[in-house]
Formats: sequence, structure tokens, C-alpha cells
Amino acid sequence: MDRYQCRCQYVYDPVKGDPTQGIAPGTPFAALPDSWVCPLCGLAKNFFVREVGKPTSEQGHPTIKVSVKCFTTLRKADTCDMGEGTEHQLFEGATVHDLVEKLDIPMEAVMLVFVNNTEVDFQTGLKNGDRVALSPKTGGM
Ligand code: FE
Repeated sequence: MDRYQCRCQYVYDPVKGDPTQGIAPGTPFAALPDSWVCPLCGLAKNFFVREVGKPTSEQGHPTIKVSVKCFTTLRKADTCDMGEGTEHQLFEGATVHDLVEKLDIPMEAVMLVFVNNTEVDFQTGLKNGDRVALSPKTGGM
């Protein structure tokens, strides 16, 4: 079972659960109730990302293509531009988290993620043809 890390560096380990909130050992991250929050900083589940070092993107089969747009300070001319968006190939099963890692954008710089114009979180899986938009903490859409 995968471990998930909060922005504050707390790591949820499914082997241990979270006794401070009545979560039994052996509870996978996906099975945590929506009311569960980081026991250290209080952030909600959707701010957690799978622990670095085990990207799902390296387990699946290539390939899907997604187009990515980055707003304001997240822009990079060759990997993630505004306007039409930049196309990237990912492994099947890749998540938003995997994509942001591939783009070499610091996770904490990304505040809002949209897939096909719907706001999503970092654990959201990507499909072929998805249109992804990343927006930073500051600055407008
Ligand atoms: Fe936290």
C-alpha cells in the first residue's frame, strides 16, 4: 500500500493508520474518510500526494497524451505554456502528481489543478486527450 505525504512533510503510513483520529492500522489512504485531516497541520486529504519515489507512471504501459497549460508564474516556454497548451506523453495510470513531477514544477507552487475545466486534486488519474491546467498560489486565472 502506498504512503502519502502532506505538504507539511507528514507521511500517512497505511500500515500504522492514524490512532489520533481512530484510523485502524491497515487502512489504505483511499479508504480514509473525507473528514480525515493531516494530524499535524490540519490540511485535507486532497493536499496529500503519493510519496515521492514510487510514481505509478513507471508501473503502467505507455502511453497517453495530455495537453497542459500553465498560468502566470508556472509558465515554462518549452514544457508548459499558456495559450494552446503543450502536449506531454505519460504512462497509463499516471496522475496529476506524476505530471507535475515530470514538468519539474515544485508541488507546493501549484494551488489549483483543472482537468477538462473541472477542478481536481493531485491523485486524479489522467486519460488520453485530457486537457490539464495548472495555476499557482498567486495570480489570476
Ligand atoms: Fe500536514
